Amino acid sequence: MKRIAILGSTGSIGRQTLEVIANHPLEFGVEVLTARSNSKLLIEQAARFLPSMVVITDNSHLDTVRTALAGLPVRVCGGEDALEEAVTAAGVDIVLAAMVGFAGLIPVIHAIKAGKQIALANKETLVVAGELVTRLAAENKVGLLPVDSEHSAIFQCLTGEKHAEVDKIYITASGGPFRKLDITALEKVTSHDALKHPTWNMGAKITIDSASLMNKGLEVIEARWLFNLRPEQIDVIVHPQSIVHSLVQFCDGSIKAQMGLPDMRLPILYAMSYPKRLNGLFPKFDFAGYPSLTFEAPDSVRFPNLAIALEAMRSGGNMPCIMNAANEVAVEAFLHDKVGFYGMTRIIEKTIQKATFLSVAGLSEYIESDREARSIASSFV
Ligand code: NDP
Ligand code: MG
Repeated sequence: MKRIAILGSTGSIGRQTLEVIANHPLEFGVEVLTARSNSKLLIEQAARFLPSMVVITDNSHLDTVRTALAGLPVRVCGGEDALEEAVTAAGVDIVLAAMVGFAGLIPVIHAIKAGKQIALANKETLVVAGELVTRLAAENKVGLLPVDSEHSAIFQCLTGEKHAEVDKIYITASGGPFRKLDITALEKVTSHDALKHPTWNMGAKITIDSASLMNKGLEVIEARWLFNLRPEQIDVIVHPQSIVHSLVQFCDGSIKAQMGLPDMRLPILYAMSYPKRLNGLFPKFDFAGYPSLTFEAPDSVRFPNLAIALEAMRSGGNMPCIMNAANEVAVEAFLHDKVGFYGMTRIIEKTIQKATFLSVAGLSEYIESDREARSIASSFV
């Protein structure tokens, strides 16, 4: 049995991971659950799955969780520092990283250094520090198994293939809820409109990133590091039905695609069961429901965040870290209706111009760049 530590168990990915585990009780067990502030759900999850340890990082909820779980064989800890112990505990086999944003980076680094397998949903980890994280994973002989559906697709297509024979990859994008809107209409959209994603049901931050296509930019950077590709080997293609999850083109011109219903429980299951496949107990694809699958080029004029992310990747160094921090601030501001759709883009552009660029960076520089960029971005909200 593989014992799982779920970072961010109360979120969209965390909850679906628990569903997958509940469906495969002989293969998986829950060792650790963590949340930031949703004490109510964390308590319910802990009472049901009885992990060895739970962490609530917002200490103001610690007493509530402790009192509710008193009498159960579950250790309750509070604060961000407790995440280090949670991911390095002897009983943990796989760390499923599903916290959102930059906050997910440090626990993943601790887990890698402790030799734990990583099932990675938190794409910001590789956006901010892809070079560092993939190097540490190689040094510690730790697998970084993608949970992001596009990256799971590419990972599955690459199984049994040689890296040198990969020509390029195509990352598919649904196009989000605003795919057909023009610039005038986009200037007026609200967070309420953006939170209605046509094909995926996800946490708030990634749903806004999907609407602005920033999510695809983050995913290109994530893919660059996960699969050791050059930026020019990665293309984005809009596929509104979200059935083809991504494709790999080989040197002979052959293309492999991975397909399935848009259901994150599938890539979550694969990341945890790899190299095995287990029975998926969820609805399966039916061609009758999808008479046509379509593909079109993304529009980086209406959706400039995609182009900004690609440019940040080409700049390298701490630029993706700066861009990511500015985006986190911008998305938060958009969610609270403090800026409009293109207001997010302006915050990111102005932060990139003002923040300190470093062509070479390590963890301490990323932490400082994230702090500086957040402070600059906040001044533009
Ligand atoms: P959610 O917002 O739904 O959940 C985030 C989880 O992380 C919650 O458990 C939350 O706790 C916890 N959390 C948030 N911030 C912090 C923090 N600063 N410190 C500690 N814990 C924190 O996000 P998603 O599940 O949608 O996404 C998680 C990650 O997976 C993101 O990086 C996203 O890009 C990626 N991803 C998500 C997909 C999806 O379908 N949802 C698909 C592909 C990738 P609390 O509930 O207490 O706030
Ligand atoms: Mg994705």
